[in-house]
Amino acid sequence: MSIRPVHLLGSPVLRERAKEVGGAVDDEVRKLVEDLRETMHAYKGVGLAANQVGATRRVAVVETEGNDLLVLIDPVILEREGEIIEEEGCLSIPDIYGDVKRAANIVVETTSLDGERVRVPASELKSRAIQHEIDHLDGILLLDRLNILTRQFKLRKWKNQRKGETSLLREVPATADEA
Ligand code: ZN
Repeated sequence: MSIRPVHLLGSPVLRERAKEVGGAVDDEVRKLVEDLRETMHAYKGVGLAANQVGATRRVAVVETEGNDLLVLIDPVILEREGEIIEEEGCLSIPDIYGDVKRAANIVVETTSLDGERVRVPASELKSRAIQHEIDHLDGILLLDRLNILTRQFKLRKWKNQRKGETSLLREVPATADEA
């Protein structure tokens, strides 16, 4: 188990579509889940996807207040109900937040660590975090969910605050509640 650096906006791995794990949940996948869990805790996030630690497998974790850790392996959203717009952040784009429209309630199908396909209903922050992490697995970032003017404004802000910074890896745990 290890806390891994988090890839930042601009790192190409964030734009890749992660590959299916398939049937077998092997030791490599289990280690990835443990690394994601530990890294998410270190950065005080509510979710983390494999792309964000440089792995292109369809694996993510979500842990919101009052809920147990949810492991997502090859997750697929089966049902969506309602719409809700709320502010979102991302560990890969620190200090940039945006209002993102998401389905309010969802049912996600995922492979458990035991290799079983299970269905999990989710609402509120848990639902939002799951949708955010599945976006990561498809190479989509929250910026892509904003309207064009807001996106340009946030991108300028991002570039300004990173003046002189060249690393696309984030090594130091932060304190904000981001996903
Ligand atoms: Zn994110």
